[in-house]
Formats: sequence, C-alpha cells, structure tokens
Amino acid sequence: MTEHLSGGCKCGLVRYSGTPAEFPMVRCHCRDCQQLTGTGHAEMMPLDEATFKISDACKVFEMTGDSGGRSFSGFCPDCGSQLTRRFDVLAGKVFVHAASLDDPAAYTPSRSIFTGSAQPWDHDIIDAKA
Ligand SMILES: [Zn+2]
Ligand SMILES: [Zn+2]
Repeated sequence: MTEHLSGGCKCGLVRYSGTPAEFPMVRCHCRDCQQLTGTGHAEMMPLDEATFKISDACKVFEMTGDSGGRSFSGFCPDCGSQLTRRFDVLAGKVFVHAASLDDPAAYTPSRSIFTGSAQPWDHDIIDAKA
C-alpha cells in the first residue's frame, strides 16, 4: 500500500494530498528557492502528480529558470505559505515544501543540490550550542 501524505498552509485555507513519487528527496540551494522561501534552501518532497490534489484557492507564480525551462511556485494567497514547486523538465511530479506536511518526518532528504549557490551561513548550527 502506498503511503498517502497530506499537508497545507499555516492558515488552513489550502490543503493538499498525494503519494510519494519515485524520485530523490533533495535539499535545494538554488537562488529561486532562496528567494521564494527567504531562507537558505528549500526542502523538496516529491509527490506523484497523478495522485496529487490541492485546494483551488492555491495561487501559482510562474518563473523561467536559467536553462529557459518554466517552473511554478504554489502558495496560499491569504497567509503566504509556500507549498509546491513544479518544473516543466520534471513532468509528473509535484514537489511540496517538506515542512508543510502534516507529518514532516516523512521527509528524509538524501542529498543537497545547487550547493554552488549555497549561502556561507547556511549550515547546521543546531548542535553549536552544545
Ligand atoms: Zn494559508
Ligand atoms: Zn531550488
């Protein structure tokens, strides 16, 4: 049985669900992810587009990457939570921002990508207090 995952935005207006896609879970440090999230990287959980459902209220922003391919960012128009990313070059998949999952622990990232644009301050400091 395939695990069904659900999640949504901070205010609860936009909800989504879907099953995991056969694709790596990646931490992306590209500039698009940095600017969209306002943080150092995005945690990208791949879901299968065929099983994916999301509230009609979700707004979508379209952008063009350096390679010329289009990508799409889905967000809540009320609270502004970033929820989804889709890419023309990765048809059939919807990436949800992992912390928007109801169970964020379902996300187990395997690698970082676009590390060349990673910010010098974007590294693990959770243990630095110890
Ligand atoms: Zn919201
Ligand atoms: Zn990115």
